[in-house]
Amino acid sequence: MKSKYSILILSFLTLFTIISFNVFSDSDEDVKYLDPSHKLEDRVKDLIKRMTLEEKAGQMSQYVGLDHMRKAEKNLSKTDLINNDAQGFYPNLHSTDVANLVKEGMIGSFLHVLSVEETNFLQELAQKSRLKIPLLIGIDAIHGNGLYSGATVYPSPITLAASFDTNMVRRIGQQTAIEMRATGTHWTFTPNIDVSRDPRWGRVGETFGEDPLLVSDMGVAMIKGLQNGYNDLEDKVIACAKHLIAGSTPINGLNASPMDISERTLREVYLPPYKSAIDAGVYSIMTAHNELNGIPCHADKWMMTDILKKEMGFEGFFVSDWMDMERIHTLHKVAENLKEGFYLSIDAGMDMHMHGPDFQEKVVELVKEGRITEERIDDSVKKILSAKFQLGLFEHPFVDIEESKKIISQKSHVALALESAQKSIVMLKNNDLLPLKPGNKNRILVTGPNANNQSITGDWTSYQPDDNVITVLEGIKMNAPADFTIDYVNSGEVIGEKAENNLNNAVEKAKSYDLVVIVVGENSMRYKWKDKTNGENKGRASIQLAGNQLELAKRINNSGIPILVIIVSGRPLGIPWISDNIPAILYAWEPGNMGGKAIGEIIFGKTNPSGKLPVSLARSVGQVQTFYNHKPSQYFHKYVFEKTGPLYPFGFGMSFTTFKYQDFEIYNSKINRDESTQVTVKVTNTGKMKGDEVVQLYIRDDYSSATRPVKELKGYKRITLDPGQSEIISFEIKPKMLSFYDAHMNYRVEPGNFTIMVGSSSNKNDLEEIKLSVL
Ligand code: BGC
Repeated sequence: MKSKYSILILSFLTLFTIISFNVFSDSDEDVKYLDPSHKLEDRVKDLIKRMTLEEKAGQMSQYVGLDHMRKAEKNLSKTDLINNDAQGFYPNLHSTDVANLVKEGMIGSFLHVLSVEETNFLQELAQKSRLKIPLLIGIDAIHGNGLYSGATVYPSPITLAASFDTNMVRRIGQQTAIEMRATGTHWTFTPNIDVSRDPRWGRVGETFGEDPLLVSDMGVAMIKGLQNGYNDLEDKVIACAKHLIAGSTPINGLNASPMDISERTLREVYLPPYKSAIDAGVYSIMTAHNELNGIPCHADKWMMTDILKKEMGFEGFFVSDWMDMERIHTLHKVAENLKEGFYLSIDAGMDMHMHGPDFQEKVVELVKEGRITEERIDDSVKKILSAKFQLGLFEHPFVDIEESKKIISQKSHVALALESAQKSIVMLKNNDLLPLKPGNKNRILVTGPNANNQSITGDWTSYQPDDNVITVLEGIKMNAPADFTIDYVNSGEVIGEKAENNLNNAVEKAKSYDLVVIVVGENSMRYKWKDKTNGENKGRASIQLAGNQLELAKRINNSGIPILVIIVSGRPLGIPWISDNIPAILYAWEPGNMGGKAIGEIIFGKTNPSGKLPVSLARSVGQVQTFYNHKPSQYFHKYVFEKTGPLYPFGFGMSFTTFKYQDFEIYNSKINRDESTQVTVKVTNTGKMKGDEVVQLYIRDDYSSATRPVKELKGYKRITLDPGQSEIISFEIKPKMLSFYDAHMNYRVEPGNFTIMVGSSSNKNDLEEIKLSVL
């Protein structure tokens, strides 16, 4: 990695160092902050003491990239711009004014900077400022640095969660950090550790699903991968856990709408991933668009300061979400003007403003008026500067453009993108159709809106070079043995459109084939904002397949031709008809750049599917909320016409081989409250193909002073077994796994019986049970 700094940049830095020292050499003092041999705390202290209040408030201010602004300035009318704050346009502020603010040292951070040239350009501007403090550049590198065109795009978080493979997710974090640093960005707004319980919400795809433990583990793996890197300073970035809190179960499924929730549910479901992220050293946390119990999350002092900082020990910095400090005034109507909104947010614990003008000057005014102390501002600035020092930005603010080209999408990264797709795709149904073998189903027609596009890359990606992405159609073609014919027909690519002609054409054409592969789902491509059906701000009032997708499947099915349905979607869709009528179903989620290849491999048996659902699949929107770790009374009464259970349960996923669970044993079935015990189970591959299984451990507290879920995931292990091979899997049952908030909100183990379950999914029929008694 070191080699990426060219001689040119080194000479620039030497020159910069000489100039810098000249600036300060009028006194005898040691300019500590510029000298990396000093301790971090000393450098921060030294720099803070030289800063004006205006410069300090500048460090707390973030803006969108200049190109982003220029694009908006060029493409949209003034009225459009003013009405659309998502475009990153600042009324009365031109991109050239923003450039000047950087030179004046009034901006500490940028986001949405999408080219290496621009990151270098912005850092050059920052070097012209009085104190030459480098910029911290953030980006939504949610699953790889996907907003950068040409980056490795790994499967989206919901897809990765289906792998139950934390080690793999950590490696993805490491590689993402390397690709980010190569393009001059240092801070990613990930992981999204929202616990998702509502499929109408468009952002399920960027979360790790419905289970607090899985979300916590995946979040920690991502944070460690991103922040700890491999070895070098230039390998690391800082992570940002988001969105505090609970916006993932909005009352109507729409992004940013209110959340009203008990403290018990907050502590049992939504807060544990934050505790884990903080323990893992997450450097920043983003607050949520929504309000919680009547308080906008950006002004929630109880949550930010009392719980996260004081109780959980969060020492990093908070960043606001896109214009949400403003919305304390404009949307939530809790503050009468912007300044009051900024005040409430800073007072609650906020450290950095995303994004735009007003903030910096209002912070200065608030301090001058004595409403906020300068110590409070110093506290925020210290954390932001510490990140910049720790990332080595003072020494290396620039990147080498030529070198970055070799780093982005390098071979080992593309290989991991493929491996993660292979491990995450979930096979939901297979009535002896897969894997396809040469025989009587050699003529295959591929169709459906997601068959041949970049929907597989999910949300938070820009359009990727065609050569970097293997679509489902391409993946099927490249994996098909020579005696197969693979053809494609376009059934209409825009999911929301009826496209009758295309539909009729596809149905007609299908009649002459042996098998039809229909690739359906959702469109998460943000560069096609109008066509997008899923992802940020794309809530749906239904969870069925949209447009004519179901009709396509039904009409082809009517002609009696076998169908394989592949679902490409970050949203957990309700697919009861597909499930009842189609012989084979793969839920591919959003499997990334290499997703098509992994799908092709599964279809032809080169890869054995092994993903397990990280969320329950509800049948219909009326079943929302459907999640496996529900309370005992949730299904006491039944629906009149609808079944109560999920269509497919959490943790479920099929393989081409079979696994047998035997000899489930407990080491000590009676323990004291502070003791641990162990359970073991023998798992055998009883089929004919090597395969991976995710062995899952669930626990239920049989009787308790406050109601407890019918089961909760407490452990899991992903294993690989050859045909005939067995492995003994053991789990330690620790007091923490038995603890909960009792009737008086004390976190403890209550004596009594617990049911320990182990098996291949959360479904009762897939689990073995054993009792544990706690004295
Ligand atoms: C999203 C955040 C994201 C930010 C910056 C917001 O609209 O809610 O998750 O990090 O934009 O792109």
